[in-house]
Amino acid sequence: MTSFFEENALVAVQTTQPLDRLLDYRAPEGGCHLGAFVEVPLGPRKVIGVVWGPGRGDFDYSKIRQVIRVLDVAPMRDEMRSFLQKAGAYTLTPMHAMLRLATRAPGLGDPPSMQKIYRLGEGEPSRMTDARRRVLETCRDLGGLSLTLKELAESAGVTTSVVKGLVKTGAVREEQTPRDTGYPLLEPDYGAKELTEDQEKAAAHLREGQASKQYNTVLLKGVTGSGKTEVYLEAVAEALRQRRQALVLLPEIALTAEFLTRIEARFGAKPAEWHSGVTMTERRRVWRMVAQGQAQVVVGARSALFLPFQRLGLVVVDEEHDTSYKQDDGVLYNARDMAVLRASILGAQVVLASATPSLESWNNAETGKYDRVVLSSRYGPAILPQMRAIVMRSQDLPSNSWISPALKRAVSARIERGEQSLLFLNRRGYAPVTLCRACGQQIGCDHCDARMVEHRFLKRLVCHQCGESKPIPETCPSCGAEDKLAPVGPGVERLAEEAQAQFPEARIAVLSSDLYGTARELKGQIEAIADGAADIIIGTQLVAKGHNFPLLTLVGVIDADLGLQGSDLRAAERTFQLMRQVAGRAGRSERRGEALLQTFQPEHPVIRAILAGNEEAFWKAELDERRVAAMPPFGRLAGIVLSGEDVAQVFDLGNHLARHDGPLRKVGAVIYGPAPAPIARVRGRHRVRLLVKAPKDVMLQRALADWAGQVQLKGDLRMSIDIDPQSF
Ligand code: ADP
Ligand code: ZN
Repeated sequence: MTSFFEENALVAVQTTQPLDRLLDYRAPEGGCHLGAFVEVPLGPRKVIGVVWGPGRGDFDYSKIRQVIRVLDVAPMRDEMRSFLQKAGAYTLTPMHAMLRLATRAPGLGDPPSMQKIYRLGEGEPSRMTDARRRVLETCRDLGGLSLTLKELAESAGVTTSVVKGLVKTGAVREEQTPRDTGYPLLEPDYGAKELTEDQEKAAAHLREGQASKQYNTVLLKGVTGSGKTEVYLEAVAEALRQRRQALVLLPEIALTAEFLTRIEARFGAKPAEWHSGVTMTERRRVWRMVAQGQAQVVVGARSALFLPFQRLGLVVVDEEHDTSYKQDDGVLYNARDMAVLRASILGAQVVLASATPSLESWNNAETGKYDRVVLSSRYGPAILPQMRAIVMRSQDLPSNSWISPALKRAVSARIERGEQSLLFLNRRGYAPVTLCRACGQQIGCDHCDARMVEHRFLKRLVCHQCGESKPIPETCPSCGAEDKLAPVGPGVERLAEEAQAQFPEARIAVLSSDLYGTARELKGQIEAIADGAADIIIGTQLVAKGHNFPLLTLVGVIDADLGLQGSDLRAAERTFQLMRQVAGRAGRSERRGEALLQTFQPEHPVIRAILAGNEEAFWKAELDERRVAAMPPFGRLAGIVLSGEDVAQVFDLGNHLARHDGPLRKVGAVIYGPAPAPIARVRGRHRVRLLVKAPKDVMLQRALADWAGQVQLKGDLRMSIDIDPQSF
């Protein structure tokens, strides 16, 4: 097929409107290449699009509109178009929405913005001052490197007018250069560590896969602190040697800063960074440099998967089990699965790193679909913490108290020895429920089916569903009683209050994602804690992820049963992963750690598996259960959420779909529901869910599309389809 079009072209356009097809345009003057980024007219607006193929040619091209211009960026590669197409087909997402993921660069079509830079010139100033001398010396020290006006003045310790004066004399030269500049070179051997025998074996395996330039996925499993990161950085090093690009995905923005520092220590320079906290200017630079192959390594959030890599050789998915890899940002996709898809198209390597892999990945390794390398012991003298249950039935706790006497003794011992304790409670805010003691009503969100959570630190009630917040009322919104509202149950803020009362001398730090404005503030706080600035750390899920606190020797899990409530089939898996991750925080250096789990049900199979540290047994039992129920990974699931303002209409639509199940029945799929969705009301809209369960090897997406295509969505009714839902 030819890949240059002179007359007409089919263009995929990026819009926010639902638009389920490619559009025909006349080619611009001078034609356009396949994959070219173009600007096209769409209604009264101009939008960005990508040339997707030749025009269809069965109508009069003189009557259709013309591509306005071809943008000055590298065309989208075949591989990327193929990726977007396949990812769209898998997630049942139309191309215009996929394209939005791939073009998230502000000012994509603008000419590169310029900036003035300064360097040593030829001229001699007629009058030499101290300040002028310092500027010239700074320029000489920099060699060929050049700085902006402000940077140069600052490093020379002079005002900008001194530099400007020197420009007039010709001693300093002023030049215009594009603002989007490349990243400093990373060197594969810069800060290489000596690996243990175990680590070296694992690294060699990854390097081999990387050097093969063939697609391969490796599950890198190892307890927290075993050196998984050190090992996969060897795969990054190999990618650098092969002159291919590498992408490292992290589950949490808060981890990025720490990670960038680590890359700098290992490869001599900081890599590119991509997530929602990165400024627009910087994002634009990243996008362009990635497209030009001038960003060797990108560290970022899942949306980085859609960057226009020139020659991607490696994708690392760190903490691959983390549920934040699947979240809605317009398109419902699981970054782990999409990483595998993109790599398989490219012939690249995927490394899935985790101490507690997802059941799916574990199963894929068991069946040989993925390779597996295991690091079985912690690096250095660190040993796994001892885990014990504190059976809460036998602990005599006053009301509004959550730290048992046994846990209190353990914390006191740590404080005496100058060690740190972590109290883990996966609940943000002060109290999960605010109850009126006069009428018994709980304060709920006006827009959702969720309870408002008291945040004393913010002095507000907050809905964790939609983010709505309001001041804490003094009278009950239901009955009007005064001073009768009472918090029920603990959140981390309330736990901190109790800890302060029980340990008046202790320095307490609360780590919860909503208490820190920026990733930088959080980073500062985490570094201070690592340096010993707190005796007791109180935290939510945030602390389970990747941080390193050398003085931490005790983890107390306030409510180990929390995740086991509810009907979610994945609850056991999640609890198991979370508890092990949290426990993994303790004793990462020489001192042996201890993890105490407060539980009311010590005989629960999940709690027993955690205590025994018997992972194999846990996985086997979970897999057996799923196999019997024909649930993933042994069957397939899709969730269909219908929403609208009128609950009866939403249910009618759900019932209609459930009755007209022909296309699904044909492939052996069954429908459950309609039922109220797990979150039945969000922002004033009612949500109803249908679950579709299908055998493993059917064309589920096509059947779903046929099935859903039977109805027209009228008024404000919406449908979203979630392939492989995380909760069911
Ligand atoms: P994981 O990713 O499995 O949690 P890390 O790679 O973060 O483990 O390693 C835990 C700690 O041990 C880190 O501080 C790391 O730098 C250190 N470490 C691991 N392996 C080595 C090694 N071979 N040489 C020096 N330090 C190491
Ligand atoms: Zn709400």
